Amino acid sequence: MIIVMKRTATEENLQDIIHTVEELGYQSHVIRGTQRSVVGAVGDERGKARLRSLEAMEGVEKVVPILQPFKLASREFKPTPTVVRVRNVEIGGDRLPVMAGPCSVESEDQILETAKAVKEAGASVLRGGAFKPRTSPYAFQGLGEEGLRLLAAAREETGLAIVTEVLKPEDVDLVAETADMLQIGARNMQNFALLKRAGEVKKPVLLKRGISSTVQEFLMAAEYVLSEGNYDVVLCERGIRTFETATRFTLDLNAVPVIKKLSHLPIIVDPSHGTGHWEYVTAMAKAGIACGADGLMIEVHMRPEVAFSDGIQSLKPALFRQLMQEIAPFVQAAGRRT
Ligand code: PEP
Ligand code: MN
Repeated sequence: MIIVMKRTATEENLQDIIHTVEELGYQSHVIRGTQRSVVGAVGDERGKARLRSLEAMEGVEKVVPILQPFKLASREFKPTPTVVRVRNVEIGGDRLPVMAGPCSVESEDQILETAKAVKEAGASVLRGGAFKPRTSPYAFQGLGEEGLRLLAAAREETGLAIVTEVLKPEDVDLVAETADMLQIGARNMQNFALLKRAGEVKKPVLLKRGISSTVQEFLMAAEYVLSEGNYDVVLCERGIRTFETATRFTLDLNAVPVIKKLSHLPIIVDPSHGTGHWEYVTAMAKAGIACGADGLMIEVHMRPEVAFSDGIQSLKPALFRQLMQEIAPFVQAAGRRT
């Protein structure tokens, strides 16, 4: 339920509502607008009739149900787009930030060199996995804590914000100590314990769509993070499994306008995982911007041929620079700046 306060409602009216909502056993989530505030009351659907009677309380304009199953993530709850701030970078605002870097952090030289190269080309966030989810247990699993240390050194050197994946609930605090943004990967999109833990920390979350997840499941996963009080969630379309084998995944760009309609959360596009091949990355990056994405995530490697993971889909720095130049008119046409 959404409790819409009157323009004239006082802070005391608002506090009374919050108190009553919580007394009825619901969580309250407040959005303070410039004109008026709204309180989202989320919890067990069965008792929602009781929330209706809050319409009788002072300062309340109306009480309306949120029809979508994802409550806090829905446009019904919050009609205006959310802007998520990651260090000095805004996602969902006037700019269209590009996150770039290697799939995995491999060594100090590798991450430093890549960070400098992507920064020079115009990226504003450095990506790189320290903890890697791999299909094979024999594949490189990431440098772990050492990888986090190297990312921090790269941030120190370049000023880029860093996004890196967290695989387990028990690692959330450790990763959050270093990262400016926590990545929850496709394979963990429905790891509910991990989503809840990420909801408890004060770091923005980049949530990637599961490879077999529907848009609704994707937004329900975001809802887990939001419901714990962390409202800084950025979604990432990174391709889904279909019958098509010509590309690694099928980048579902339909999801971008669909999610824009259903949710206020920003959504970025990852054409590297979405295609699985460097030759297709730039075309799909442009397409992502054209269909309304709020940003991009691109894998870049100094020497893709010797990368520990995802070399085939990684761009060399020169190609990344070219991508940044080629997307510029699309960014401008979308009414934004890089
Ligand atoms: C990654 O970003 O390197 C990654 C593992 O992504 P995904 O979870 O989308 O496969
Ligand atoms: Mn990767």
